[in-house]
Amino acid sequence: MRGQRSLLLGPARLCLRLLLLLGYRRRCPPLLRGLVQRWRYGKVCLRSLLYNSFGGSDTAVDAAFEPVYWLVDNGHVSHRPNPGFGGRPPPPGKLRVFVVLVIVLTGSIVAIAYLCVLPLILRTYSVPRLCWHFFYSHWNLILIVFHYYQAITTPPGYPPQGRNDIATVSICKKCIYPKPARTHHCSICNRCVLKMDHHCPWLNNCVGHYNHRYFFSFCFFMTLGCVYCSYGSWDLFREAYAAIEKMKQLDKNKLQAVANQTYHQTPPPTFSFRERMTHKSLVYLWFLCSSVALALGALTVWHAVLISRGETSIERHINKKERRRLQAKGRVFTNPYNYGCLDNWKVFLGVDTGRHWLTRVLLPSSHLPHGNGMSWEPPPWVTAHSASVMAV
Ligand SMILES: [Zn+2]
Ligand SMILES: [Zn+2]
Repeated sequence: MRGQRSLLLGPARLCLRLLLLLGYRRRCPPLLRGLVQRWRYGKVCLRSLLYNSFGGSDTAVDAAFEPVYWLVDNGHVSHRPNPGFGGRPPPPGKLRVFVVLVIVLTGSIVAIAYLCVLPLILRTYSVPRLCWHFFYSHWNLILIVFHYYQAITTPPGYPPQGRNDIATVSICKKCIYPKPARTHHCSICNRCVLKMDHHCPWLNNCVGHYNHRYFFSFCFFMTLGCVYCSYGSWDLFREAYAAIEKMKQLDKNKLQAVANQTYHQTPPPTFSFRERMTHKSLVYLWFLCSSVALALGALTVWHAVLISRGETSIERHINKKERRRLQAKGRVFTNPYNYGCLDNWKVFLGVDTGRHWLTRVLLPSSHLPHGNGMSWEPPPWVTAHSASVMAV
């Protein structure tokens, strides 16, 4: 940034020096002297506005992304003042632009499924096939709605302020309060969050200790739903796409015929309004579901890898640095929150018995996660090997 400024100012400075040289040698006229003074004044003003000893490429990128941060932070339907220092986070029910977008897009897919897809498959599918689609699609939809609602309305968990009896590892520089292990400060919520993963604009909420499972389950079931919709509607999409192409060709032919005055009266429409809308809706459904399945699927896989390793998104970066630092000293880094792949999943999903895979994972469940988010003792059923890793 500084280099670019000197690149622009360099030729201007050279011209000014030449002018000054000429001006002082030949008793510079008042007009030129005035111009020189204005230039100097302007230069001082510009430098005082732009100069920052902490400036750099990071500051430039932050400034460029400022409108996006503003949109994430303030793009809500109803305006309320932002919480100040130490203030409470926005109330969970407060709608934000990305939350509205998720609801509108999901609602549009459900509406198309009922209004366009259902009448088509009712005529063509067999009864057992219809039953399977009916049960699967509604089970998937209920899990998406439940986990999304829980993820946006459940607070991620905050460390209690003013208590001295909790085990802390550091002091938050912004809150000036003790920080328990795995707690990080969220600059959007403006407070510390227990086992913080990230701040999600699609939820308008931080993802932390108490709603991490809801966030992941929403991503997983939404990806599953999108894959189901795009795979299941592949034949309908191909037919609708071919029909749209045919519609375009017929419209073109009709216009050509009118131009050639072949018709003596307005030709009848080849496709009804309902048919046109159905075909376009099916193409929209397939494209939207496929794109979301790809993007959200990649995010879900990434989070699944992190959960398998017993890490959050933030800890991934911290542990990577620590691993490199210790490697340089010839030592091996051990993640103290890694209980082993299967046990990590069981702890994350709150599965204590075999029956819980059905009642707590495959059915909507609002059970609390293990622990209070401040101390991280392994659950009693964690195997001896993993417990010994914990002790390292
Ligand atoms: Zn903090
Ligand atoms: Zn946050």
